[in-house]
Amino acid sequence: MKAIRIDKPGDIGLVEVEKPKIANSREILIRVVCGSICGSDLGIFKGTNSVATYPIVIGHEFGGVVEEIGSEVTGIRPGDLVAVDPVRSCGHCYACRHGRQNVCAGVKCVGVHMPGGFSEFVTVPAERANKVDPERISPELVCLIEPYSIGVQVNTRGRIAKGDLVLVMGCGPAGLCIIQDARARGAVVLASDIIDARLEAALKMGAAAAVNVKKEDIRKAAADFSRGEGMPVVVDAACTVDSFPLALDLASPGGRAVIMGLGAAVSQVPAVAVTRKELDVIGSRLNNHRFEEVIAGMERGIYAPEFLRSHVFPLAEAVKAFDLALNHPEEVRKVVLKFDA
Ligand code: MN
Ligand code: ZN
Repeated sequence: MKAIRIDKPGDIGLVEVEKPKIANSREILIRVVCGSICGSDLGIFKGTNSVATYPIVIGHEFGGVVEEIGSEVTGIRPGDLVAVDPVRSCGHCYACRHGRQNVCAGVKCVGVHMPGGFSEFVTVPAERANKVDPERISPELVCLIEPYSIGVQVNTRGRIAKGDLVLVMGCGPAGLCIIQDARARGAVVLASDIIDARLEAALKMGAAAAVNVKKEDIRKAAADFSRGEGMPVVVDAACTVDSFPLALDLASPGGRAVIMGLGAAVSQVPAVAVTRKELDVIGSRLNNHRFEEVIAGMERGIYAPEFLRSHVFPLAEAVKAFDLALNHPEEVRKVVLKFDA
């Protein structure tokens, strides 16, 4: 079968690999229908994703149709449409014991640390497959449940609720999912980015205002938006060396800053930046069992996956799709790969 593999930074290809077999009685075999390219996939390609291992069949945003089930699998049958939660955890470390499996001491993400879903077939533990009703969510959109789960995770970690003023820095796909979910919670969102097209998308996804930080002073914009108080919640979805200290700077006294970058580059932050305002600096990684919430939200129509998906390519053109996502961030929201084309 065909799969998309990154052998080392800069080296990606559509390759022939062995079709997987169900390895234990609780696994299922899925025929992948669609997958979407993530900024973290681009990071694996560029060599800037500090948690990735090579060579790796990538893909953690995917879904498909169940082909085969292990003997102990209940609740899922061949023919079911499923979205796959890519998080794998040990179940017994401190984080797992405290309901934080997404930061398990041995956490693995499919497509980052273990073979991913950008392949014609994939086996997954049945408990990580979430059933989707194809009458309510198009099979060609199931891969976008994972990116929305990131938005729900960030906003849950940030305790974003009705009436909160929220600055979302960075309006790539993650930022857009965060914005749309924050809006659905009743928050009022200020979006920032350096690309106008992304800011336009942010406004379409529900941001109340948008700032191009190359043209406008974000400090002044945040102050105006918050009547001079600073932002009660800042989400750093820009994830640069400078955006982390800036997020702390723009937060109001008593505010929260949610950090989600995976870079290892060092930002300079004095202790007083946290202490003076008694900030909650909150990390957010992957998702912690958020798929059901996202699926329910999509069924209720609170998200716009059709708009999030800006491009569709057949699997055969995967390298071209990757090139587009890598080199044209102004055009791309989510690039979706169709595996059955
Ligand atoms: Mn992703
Ligand atoms: Zn664990």
